[in-house]
Amino acid sequence: MQRFQCYIDGEFADGEARFESIDPATGAAWAEMPEAREADVDRAVEAAHRALYAGPWAKLTATQRGKLLYRLADLVAENALKLAELETRDTGKIIRETSTQIAYVAEYYRYYAGIADKIEGSYLPIDKPDMEVWLRREPIGVVAMVVPWNSQLFLSAVKIGPALAAGCTMVVKASEDGPAPLLEFARLIHEAGFPAGVVNIITGFGPSCGAALSRHPKVDHIAFTGGPETARHVVRNSAENLASTSLELGGKSPFIVFADADLESAANAQVAGIFAATGQSCVAGSRLIVEKSVKDRFLDILKAKAEAIRIGSPLDMATEVGPLATRRQRDHIEVLVGHSLAAGARLVTGGSAAEGAGYYYRPTILDCDGSASPSLEEEFFGPVLSVLSFETEAQALALANNTRYGLAAGLFTRDLTRAHRLMKGIRAGIVWVNTYRAVSPIAPFGGFGLSGHGREGGMAAALDYTRTKTVWLRTSDDPIPDPFVMR
Ligand code: NAD
Repeated sequence: MQRFQCYIDGEFADGEARFESIDPATGAAWAEMPEAREADVDRAVEAAHRALYAGPWAKLTATQRGKLLYRLADLVAENALKLAELETRDTGKIIRETSTQIAYVAEYYRYYAGIADKIEGSYLPIDKPDMEVWLRREPIGVVAMVVPWNSQLFLSAVKIGPALAAGCTMVVKASEDGPAPLLEFARLIHEAGFPAGVVNIITGFGPSCGAALSRHPKVDHIAFTGGPETARHVVRNSAENLASTSLELGGKSPFIVFADADLESAANAQVAGIFAATGQSCVAGSRLIVEKSVKDRFLDILKAKAEAIRIGSPLDMATEVGPLATRRQRDHIEVLVGHSLAAGARLVTGGSAAEGAGYYYRPTILDCDGSASPSLEEEFFGPVLSVLSFETEAQALALANNTRYGLAAGLFTRDLTRAHRLMKGIRAGIVWVNTYRAVSPIAPFGGFGLSGHGREGGMAAALDYTRTKTVWLRTSDDPIPDPFVMR
């Protein structure tokens, strides 16, 4: 079995305990992971704290930080395939996606490398004649980053990149499910030449490792991606250290299709939105809201596409849908599909586990018209699409906004004025019109409501990893007048 280690204070180390990682394509253990507990967490946070205030990192110029990030970007690009194979092996996410996604992760680091020396302070035109006042932008401090199993390299890059550009130090907690790629990525941090303690990478279980990290007194900010229930624990933990938080949580994103849309193109985007990554995507377009007049035709196209999907080994480039990351995840989906059928949803296709030892589940479509199916509200995080239909634009909008989540939405229509109206009315952090699941380091990403708060990507994300310091400098040589009067 392959063995992985934590990366703490510039050194690779075993955790306080170990656990086995399961290959979701076979259900068999394939690697041993280090389990960080409270003492490891403490060592990692102390190392990040030392690196923030003492040592070489604190003295680097922003341009020098940028150069280290450029080096990291090159190393990610050079090692993309190796990292992709590890992610595929450990999480079941298909190699076809991990290989391209990780190559693109390099672009996130490159983008933030360029931003490092473009984070500017500002000068204030203060209302006092003998004062110069300006704002410095300083790193927000030690950042705890907690990520879920899916796309760990991507979900950490959107945190590590801007945080490094801003000059922060950090402890990254990989998910206990599929941590291999992030632990391997630590070798690239080391090779790129980041000083010891700047980036620490550990893994362990939520209640021990994640909780110890998010309530640690020396953590200043927590950047969390995961489910809303875990986010509540994290926010409660932050009551201990009063750290600020950014939360990227789940979604129940609407995917609206009007009769005038290019149905073939919309169907491909819907497949990308719900069956790519085996549906384990926070932006999964899991609620199809389709105009009644084309519902049957659109479902026929979708059903044919869903049934033609190649299910197989995630390491095979031809595979389109691989296993779910964990048995727990597949069991959750089976139970939720059962409840939805019991509540009156009609099975269009799928609805069962696929044969084989791994955690496979067939691409599934549930027609939920006329039912109170729980699938319309609860996030599956799997390849299950719930379908509703509408007759008017107002109905479409009301159905789209009938959710406590607010992450993403898709809209397919050729009517430009309608697209503009709906784009404004849809309550979501991202609206894709005539496309779906497009991302870029340049474009902010995030939601509101049950989908959390804060944005990742773009310049603003780098500013979110800074705090301002207001500096007052008196330019008069005269003695300070009346000390009992506030000036
Ligand atoms: P999860 O919430 O179970 O776990 C996420 C991380 O939190 C893991 O590293 C886990 O160990 C840690 N954790 C668990 N308990 C903790 C605690 N008490 N204190 C601190 N940390 C703790 O999430 P998951 O099930 O692994 O991932 C799926 C969820 O992530 C879905 O809801 C999905 O939508 C969401 N997600 C959101 C985005 C986004 O960008 N919005 C992206 C991907 C996934």
